[in-house]
Amino acid sequence: METENNKGKTVLVLGGGIGGVRVARELNKLIGNENGITLGKILIFEKEKTNLFAPSLTKMMVGERETAQIQDDLSKVALGGIEVVSGEIESVDPNTITVKSGGQTYTGDYMVVSLGTEQHDANNLSSFGHNFYTADGAASFYKQLKNFKGGKLAVVVSSLPHKSPVAPYEAAMLVDQYLRDRNLRDKTELSLYSPEKAPMPFAGDAVSGDVRSIMQKRGISYFPQHQLTGASDGQLTFTNEKGEAVEVKTDLLAYTPDHRCPAVISKSGMCGESGWVEVNPETLETSFAKVYAIGDITSIKTGDEEHLPKAGVFAQYQALTVAHNIVRQMHGKQPDKIFTAEGKYIMDQGNGKATRVGGNFYSSSLDIKESSAINHWVKILQEKSWFAGHF
Ligand SMILES: Cc1cc2nc3c(=O)[nH]c(=O)nc-3n(C[C@H](O)[C@H](O)[C@H](O)COP(=O)(O)OP(=O)(O)OC[C@H]3O[C@@H](n4cnc5c(N)ncnc54)[C@H](O)[C@@H]3O)c2cc1C
Repeated sequence: METENNKGKTVLVLGGGIGGVRVARELNKLIGNENGITLGKILIFEKEKTNLFAPSLTKMMVGERETAQIQDDLSKVALGGIEVVSGEIESVDPNTITVKSGGQTYTGDYMVVSLGTEQHDANNLSSFGHNFYTADGAASFYKQLKNFKGGKLAVVVSSLPHKSPVAPYEAAMLVDQYLRDRNLRDKTELSLYSPEKAPMPFAGDAVSGDVRSIMQKRGISYFPQHQLTGASDGQLTFTNEKGEAVEVKTDLLAYTPDHRCPAVISKSGMCGESGWVEVNPETLETSFAKVYAIGDITSIKTGDEEHLPKAGVFAQYQALTVAHNIVRQMHGKQPDKIFTAEGKYIMDQGNGKATRVGGNFYSSSLDIKESSAINHWVKILQEKSWFAGHF
């Protein structure tokens, strides 16, 4: 419905990843845009031509997916009032709700920042390891895995925080199954090193303990509180919980990169002490009027030491909250939707089954469901419905 308030309003959506696409599509629907009728404009700023469904990268590591199967052309999202502005964002001014890209300046009435994380190489790991948080890294890991005949294989979390708290554990389990299916498991020492004190500590002791015991049953050696300090030519150095240096040799390495807040946002003055964009946990408002941030770029404290995990499931729920509240304001109404951090997170185990961690991530009331075939299929459905529903 067009009113004086929403007439001609423009929303700048920074990032065409999971959060950005979801918020843009929801805004388009709630504003009432159709092909031929544009009641409000939504500009998505994105440097990549394609949208990648990162939760399927672990499947790429074991040859169950190729890049083309887990990405789609972002221009397909440009329906109704949505336009895609292709290119690197050069600067952002949250005071004036302005974005510069391709030498042009764009001004909006509202802004939603969903630029995710910037990945950096830690300790020059890329010289011999594979960053499975990128499509190229997941593909190059699989290329090596296909020729792997046994030896020392490590999954390493190079630093905290990282997105998808489950991905390193899922990666280790999918690789474990791959090797079992090829009778190579007995010839392989499979290990996971992480600075975390336990698997997914934010989920509480019960969930953490369950994940630990799943790995133990599969013979995956787990080394928590191991901070990577050096790496060269297959040799890794960690500092363990006692402050001792631990040397480890690997024949094949999959690692997570260093995650940082995208520089264009750090420079904009939007980041807090955490180095990330700190938002109202229920409304995702930043400290700038009419400027919101969602997804991995945000930092939301859930306890003394814990933060809301950087996960697509939350980026999507946050997108729905923000879109709803922006459109309410366009109609001169008070925002009335809050983000509750209810969510489910599925960890595939490679054997046709998956485990589900779910509940309210703002409280400690999380539980882990018995591993089941249904959860495995739900995870596959998440990938299929992402593309079917948004592209
Ligand atoms: C291996 C792996 C497994 C995962 N598994 C799961 C899972 O099972 N469940 C789950 O919920 N989540 C999972 N995730 C996490 C999930 O992918 C992210 O949490 C989600 O993508 C966050 O959405 P976002 O919009 O915040 O960021 P992104 O989806 O990363 O989007 C950010 C976008 O901003 C763009 N951008 C950045 N800087 C600029 C710039 N200067 N100019 C223009 N564009 C820019 C980027 O190109 C990118 O497209 C996984 C992630 C990985 C890597």
